[in-house]
Amino acid sequence: MPELPEVETIRKTLWPAVTGRTILQAEASANEVMSVEDCEQLIGKTVTDIRRRGKYLLFLLQEGNRPSLWLLVHLRMTGRLLIHRFEDPLPKHTHVRLVLQSVDLQRTLLIFQDTRRFGRMWLRRVSDSSQLPTDMDKLGPEPVDPPLAKETLKKQLKKHPALTLKAALLNQSVIAGIGNIYADEILYAAGLPPQQRAGTLGDNQISQLATAIPQVLQQAIAECGTTLRNYVDGWSREGRFQNCLNVYGRAGLPCRHCGQTLLKTRLAGRTTTWCPSCQPRHSEARQTDS
Ligand SMILES: [Zn+2]
Repeated sequence: MPELPEVETIRKTLWPAVTGRTILQAEASANEVMSVEDCEQLIGKTVTDIRRRGKYLLFLLQEGNRPSLWLLVHLRMTGRLLIHRFEDPLPKHTHVRLVLQSVDLQRTLLIFQDTRRFGRMWLRRVSDSSQLPTDMDKLGPEPVDPPLAKETLKKQLKKHPALTLKAALLNQSVIAGIGNIYADEILYAAGLPPQQRAGTLGDNQISQLATAIPQVLQQAIAECGTTLRNYVDGWSREGRFQNCLNVYGRAGLPCRHCGQTLLKTRLAGRTTTWCPSCQPRHSEARQTDS
C-alpha cells in the first residue's frame, strides 16, 4: 500500500507533467473507482496544483480564472496514477483515463490503474483553495515538511495512551501518512518496541520517536519510496527504499545493527517486525514501575 513517501513521490513526478494543463477528455470505466458524473465534470478544467495530505493526493482544478474543484485520489492497496504513452495499449485494470493539453497543445495521457480496485477518485467543490476539503479534517499532523515537532507528537500520543506504538503510528488521526512499512522502520530507528503503550513513553523516548519519524520518511522520499510488489511513480519507475529496509519483511533474518534474529508479531491487525535487542521492552517496565 502506498504510504506518505510513495504518494509524495507520485505527486512530485506528476506535477511537471500535469499542472498547467487542461483536461480535454475524461473517461471512467469502473463506477466504484470514480463516478461517471464526477468524471464528466473534469472536462475543461485546468490542473493548477497537486498537493498531498497524508496518503491523499489533491488536484486543484480551475475553471476560467477561479479554482473550482478538488480531485481527490486515494490509491489504497494497489492504485497507480501513471503517465502513459498514447501509442501504447492501455494496461489491464485501467479504470480512469484523462487526456490533458498544455497551452502549446502538447497532450498528456494520465491513467488510474488498479488491480484490486480499492482506490478511489472523487470531487469536492473548492470554497477557498487554501482550505483543504473536509475529507481531510480527521487527519493528524503532517510528519514532514516541516518535520514533526516533539511537542506536537507528545500531544498526539497523549490522546491515545492505551494504543501500542505500532497502532498509534498507523492511526491516521494521530499522524497522517504512515502505514505498515514505515511504522516498523520508524520504531526500529527510534529504538522503541512496537508493543509499548503510547502513554508510557518518557520524555527522551518521545524525542527519539519525534526524530525518527521525519528522518525515516525523508530518507524514503529521497529514495523515491519502497517498491515491494506494485508501487511505481508517475513515470512507472520503481522506488529504492526497499534496499534500505532494516526490519520490515526481514523477520527471521539478523538485525543489521546487532545481529540478533528479528522477531515477528501481530499488532493492530498487522504483521510487525522488530529487533528484541535494539528495541528492548524493559524500557516500558521501568517507565510503568516508577
Ligand atoms: Zn538489533
